[in-house]
Amino acid sequence: MAKIINFHDVHDRTWFEETLDVIQDLYEVIPFEEIQNFYKGKVTSKNITHLTVDDGHSSTYSLIYPILKERGLTASIFVSPKIIQEKTNFWYSESSDYDKEKLLNCIGEILNIKRESLNDIYPRSLMKVLSLSQNWEIIKLYQEKYYEPTKCGQYITLNQLLELERSGVFDIGAHTMNHPILANENDLTSELEIKKSIIVLGELLNRRVTTFAYPNGSVNLDFGKREIKFLREAEVEYSFSFEFKNLAKNDNLLSIPRYGLYHGNKDFVRKKLKYGAIWEPIKKRILNNEDKYREELKKKFGL
Ligand SMILES: [Zn+2]
Repeated sequence: MAKIINFHDVHDRTWFEETLDVIQDLYEVIPFEEIQNFYKGKVTSKNITHLTVDDGHSSTYSLIYPILKERGLTASIFVSPKIIQEKTNFWYSESSDYDKEKLLNCIGEILNIKRESLNDIYPRSLMKVLSLSQNWEIIKLYQEKYYEPTKCGQYITLNQLLELERSGVFDIGAHTMNHPILANENDLTSELEIKKSIIVLGELLNRRVTTFAYPNGSVNLDFGKREIKFLREAEVEYSFSFEFKNLAKNDNLLSIPRYGLYHGNKDFVRKKLKYGAIWEPIKKRILNNEDKYREELKKKFGL
């Protein structure tokens, strides 16, 4: 089995070390170059995996980098050049600790929806069906209304990005400018978010950027054919989504599936890696999940 594993922000060193222990027990961790060789039919070893880390949170530098280096492992990371340059936060990290009820008040006001009909709604999921500009309007209103200061940037700095590039531990690709759910944006914004992130990151790294990861990444919910077209136009060669699938030689290279690992003990991680491709799609079909919930919210509020 060949698969790509994804991490985001990692806070717990022990969890990350234990998760890597399980991964290294089950698979040979290969560099990105070998994934390219896999798709070219040149890799014959069976149980291989490549690690990826999205968003460029500061823990990518402070925690993930030294541990991978110590173990002699490599990974791909996907970052926003804008967030790094401006030292700001993505909309979801800026609002991550906001009070649920207060956030719903602001959502109701911006979307002109009666507050009563928002009771029992998960604001984070509702924000994932909105556009970037709507989400920032909601955040600005929250900050004004509840005297909430803007947070300090939680992502890697430009110097750290350049150090990671030089280290040989990471292959660096783009992840949009502002991390919108691309499918919620109009054509122009989606195109700009993708293409500008590839160009500006290329300028920072002084080389061509050929890899990309979709924000949120659910196929046909967070992105679709339109985004794949923009990536092709930008000459991106490999782009990563989220799907519990093992790699297949005939994968669409602009929608390569990845397994997300974010929590759970060693036993859970082992089972998820071994059986996830079988039970995750079934679970997704029969049980309630955020993707389904977001579709319901879209219908309910006509979004
Ligand atoms: Zn992301």
